[in-house]
Amino acid sequence: MNAVNYSISKSSFLKFEQCSKSFFLYKKHPYLRDKLSTDKQLTFRRGNDIGFFAQQLFPGGEDVSKTSKNVLEAYEQTKTLLEKKTPVIYEATFIFNGVLVMVDILHLDKEKYYAYEIKSSIKVSETYLRDACLQYYVLKNSLPGFEDLFLTTMNGDYVLSGNVEPKKMFKKRSVKKEAENNLPYFEEKIKNAYLIIEQNAIPNVPVGKHCFKPYQCDFFGSCWKDVMNDKSIFNLPLISKDKLFEWYDLGIKTIEQLYDDMFDNDIHARIRASFAENKPILNKEKIARLLGRIEAPYAALDMEIWSAAIPVLQGTKPFQQIPFLFCISESEKENHFLTEHKPDSRKQFAQELITQTSIYKTILVYDRTMEELALKGLKEVVPELGKELDDLKNKFVDLFDIFKNLDYYHPTFKSNFSLKSVTEIFNTGITYSGIQSGLEAMNIYEQWRSSEVPQDKVKIENDLVEYCLNDARATLKLADHLRNLIK
Ligand code: SF4
Repeated sequence: MNAVNYSISKSSFLKFEQCSKSFFLYKKHPYLRDKLSTDKQLTFRRGNDIGFFAQQLFPGGEDVSKTSKNVLEAYEQTKTLLEKKTPVIYEATFIFNGVLVMVDILHLDKEKYYAYEIKSSIKVSETYLRDACLQYYVLKNSLPGFEDLFLTTMNGDYVLSGNVEPKKMFKKRSVKKEAENNLPYFEEKIKNAYLIIEQNAIPNVPVGKHCFKPYQCDFFGSCWKDVMNDKSIFNLPLISKDKLFEWYDLGIKTIEQLYDDMFDNDIHARIRASFAENKPILNKEKIARLLGRIEAPYAALDMEIWSAAIPVLQGTKPFQQIPFLFCISESEKENHFLTEHKPDSRKQFAQELITQTSIYKTILVYDRTMEELALKGLKEVVPELGKELDDLKNKFVDLFDIFKNLDYYHPTFKSNFSLKSVTEIFNTGITYSGIQSGLEAMNIYEQWRSSEVPQDKVKIENDLVEYCLNDARATLKLADHLRNLIK
C-alpha cells in the first residue's frame, strides 16, 4: 500500500466535483458550513442503519470502524486484517493518491476481493455511481486481487414474507465498466483538487445552478447571504432555475429590475407586481368557487405516514408508505386514531377512518397527495372497503389548490407554499413547538414502536398527535380565513 498521507475523503472529493470553492471551504474553513437540518441528520442516520443491516449479506465480518478511534487507525487495522486474509471486513479503509475511502463490505472469495457499497435507496443515481467509481479507483490501485465493486441498493420489488431475507431485499450492480472508463478522469481531477488545496485563496466561484446539484451545497448560507435578500429574484415562485440564473448572469439581481415583457406568462408579471407593491394576489372568484364546494358538516383531516426502508409488516415492500395516524378537527370536536401496527392494523385503520369521517359531507385537506396515496395503499390491503375509501376521497376539498394555482399569493410566501408558511400569514395562532416535519414524525414513530418505557410512550404519543392535530386545525382555520378574505 501507498503512504498513509491523505487530504481528500470521498465526501470532500464529491464537494470538489460540485464546486472548487465548496471543496476549499470544506478543507480550510469548515466552520462556515451550514448547520445540518434535523431532516438531513435523520436521512444520514437511516443510511447508516441500512449499511449496518446489510452486513448480514456477509455475516461474521470484522468491523474496523468499531475497533479504531480514527480513519488512520481504521486504515492500519484494514492492512492487518488483509495480511491475515480476513474473509469479510466492514468499513475497510484504503488510501491511494491522497484519497481515503471506506467500503461498507469487503469480501474475499477465491483470492479475489469484491467490495459492496450500500445505499438506502431503490434507485441508482448518477451521484451514487460517481461515488462508487471513486472507491473503485482507490481500491484498484491499492488492493492487490481487487476484482469489482457493487453498488448495492434496496430491491423495490421485494415483498416481505416471513423473516427479512437480505439477499433478496438488496440488489447489486457492478460498476466495473463505468469505473474502468473513468480511471483517467479521477487521476486528472485529483491532481486539480490538490492544486486547489495548495492555493492560499478562496476560489472565486460565483453562485450558480451548481449550488443545488447534486445537493444544496453545505456553504449555501455563507455564499448566498448577500444574494438572498427580500428583493432577490430567487424569491420568485414558479420560475425555473435556468431562467433565474439567465437573468442573474445578465446582472438582474432584484425583482425591481424585472419588466413584465421579460415573462413568458401573465402570472409571473402579477407576482412581480405583488412583490413591488407588497400586496397579495387575490382571485376572489376562484377562491369562492373552491370554497363553494364545502358542504356542512365538514372537518379537516391530516395523516402521518411511515415509510420503513426495511419492511416490517408482512406483504409490504421497502419504503412502502403506511399510514399510522390520522387526526380530524372540526369546530366542536377533535378525534384521532394512532396505531403501532403490532400486529398490522391497516384494516382497523381503514375502518376507523371511514367511521370517523362518515358523518361529514366534506373533508378539508392541505395537499391531498399523501392522503390519496395512503387511501390507495389501504384499498389494496382491504379491497372490501374500496368503495367507502373512494367515497372518502371524493369528499376531499384541497385548500392547497388555492395557493398552488396562485389564486392567493403573498410575497412573504416567497416560493414556500407549505401549510406552516401559509398559515403564518393568516395568523392562525397555531405554533409547532415539538415535531417539525413528517420525516421527524416518522422517526419518532419508530422510537415509539420500539420503546418499552410507558412514560416515554405516552410522551411520544402526545407529541405525535399534537403535531398531526395542529395540521388539521391549521387547515380548518385556513378555510375560515379564506372565507373572510373574499367577503
Ligand atoms: S454555495 Fe455555490 S458557489 Fe458557494 S461554495 Fe457552494 S456551490 Fe460553490
